[in-house]
Amino acid sequence: MKILSAEFVTSAVGPKQFPADRRPQIAFAGRSNVGKSSLINALLNRKSLVKTSATPGKTQLVNFFLINNEFYCVDLPGYGYARAPRSVVDAWAPMIEGYLRDSPQIRVVVVLLDIRREPDARDERLVAWLAHYGVPAFYVLTKADKMKRNEAARAQRAIAKALGLDASPLLTSVKTGQGIVELKAEIANRLNERPGNITSS
Ligand code: GDP
Repeated sequence: MKILSAEFVTSAVGPKQFPADRRPQIAFAGRSNVGKSSLINALLNRKSLVKTSATPGKTQLVNFFLINNEFYCVDLPGYGYARAPRSVVDAWAPMIEGYLRDSPQIRVVVVLLDIRREPDARDERLVAWLAHYGVPAFYVLTKADKMKRNEAARAQRAIAKALGLDASPLLTSVKTGQGIVELKAEIANRLNERPGNITSS
């Protein structure tokens, strides 16, 4: 997949502002500071198109980027940013659930988990919504460079077990480039797949 163009389209505060066209969407979700903006920027070969979730106000927004004029990368609100007030901390939940419920164009949600952290209740809630709304998910562990190889393999198994995943999550690192090619290939595959569950509404 060659990235020919990548442009910011909109920051949505609710479903009314989601793009209305039917281009497929690849969404990214994970806890604040998991490395989501770094990973999306690495995938798109852009330095700072996607802003970190430490950016004020960003925990409440769903950000859409149009890639190659063909599909959207959707940056979902990072959840659980500790320094945000509680009302803001909780704003991610209806935003993400609303997006999963109202976006039939989603081809896959890439769920990011920090390799050094145990999944928490918010990660579990996301996994449960994905199952509930029948949205395909692909699991990625970030910051794999922070661990030795055998330690990383152990964390990979533990996280898969904690979340009840069928497949091993992909190890990635924007520092070493590990897993980036594989993740791009996965996204390209999902875009080429004929959507099975997209209705004509
Ligand atoms: P976001 O809040 O999920 O968008 O996370 P960011 O992309 O802003 O990353 C949070 C912090 O983790 C930053 O200090 C990044 O430099 C760091 N980071 C992100 N990805 C990696 C990685 O693969 N390896 C290492 N060592 N640090 C990373």
